[in-house]
Amino acid sequence: MPSFAGRYYPLSLGAMARPFRKAEVESFFARLKAQMPDPRTELEFKNPYTLLVAVVLSAQATDKGVNKATEPLFKVADTPEKMLKLGEARLISYIKTIGLFRTKARNVIALSKALVDGHGSVVPRSREELQALPGVGRKTANVVLNVAFGEPTIAVDTHIFRVANRTGLAPGQTPEAVEAGLERAVPPEYKLNAHHWLILHGRYTCVARKPKCPLCVVRDLCRYRPKTTEAELGPLMSRAAMTPTSPGSAAPGDSPHRRPRRLPAASSRRA
Ligand code: SF4
Repeated sequence: MPSFAGRYYPLSLGAMARPFRKAEVESFFARLKAQMPDPRTELEFKNPYTLLVAVVLSAQATDKGVNKATEPLFKVADTPEKMLKLGEARLISYIKTIGLFRTKARNVIALSKALVDGHGSVVPRSREELQALPGVGRKTANVVLNVAFGEPTIAVDTHIFRVANRTGLAPGQTPEAVEAGLERAVPPEYKLNAHHWLILHGRYTCVARKPKCPLCVVRDLCRYRPKTTEAELGPLMSRAAMTPTSPGSAAPGDSPHRRPRRLPAASSRRA
């Protein structure tokens, strides 16, 4: 049964259903694109270095919680040198609302030192060099490569893992298997933004409990059989009807179109 970080999802019938045809995958992403033409990360950052720090802090935490902590932090430490000058103890005072903050603070200081000592304070652009940094795994490297450097990588987080398995788009037992399945399935023209489309779809529509199937733009393609009905969705249906600009979201203020964030092109190479 598919799992992610020790959590098991209820039987993902999508995983056992008829595989997606090429035209269906095209249609799947075309619809997500129509719904979210310019999807972006919801993490706040100023440059590749602050993006890297934000992604490291976001493990098992919400983007909202990370943004709350990093807003004041990045005002005083938006480069590896400034972070080292700040020091671990003061860094902790900024991020103590985030889970695992002690380990994350240790990693942020260690990776900042590694960037200063080994990379001229510049965030490296290769997966190997990124993953060699303390606290940086494959998922974090994929997010940085995609968001900071425009590489067509797909970082499989808990949302993407759920959506890929439920829908049957790229079923897999592990994040690595899902990533490989998505690499094979996603058409080249959708690869750059596939990561954001799938995350936002999982975060706002195909949510873990009671997915908003009646509001979902890919429901006829999705192989998940126990779809949520309109009756089960209840009051969220009428609230969605009052939100004409966000077809996939169920409630006002719950839209994947809110607060876009993108790195300024000029600063996309250096920390
Ligand atoms: S919201 Fe429902 S219909 Fe849409 S992808 Fe998720 S399980 Fe499938």
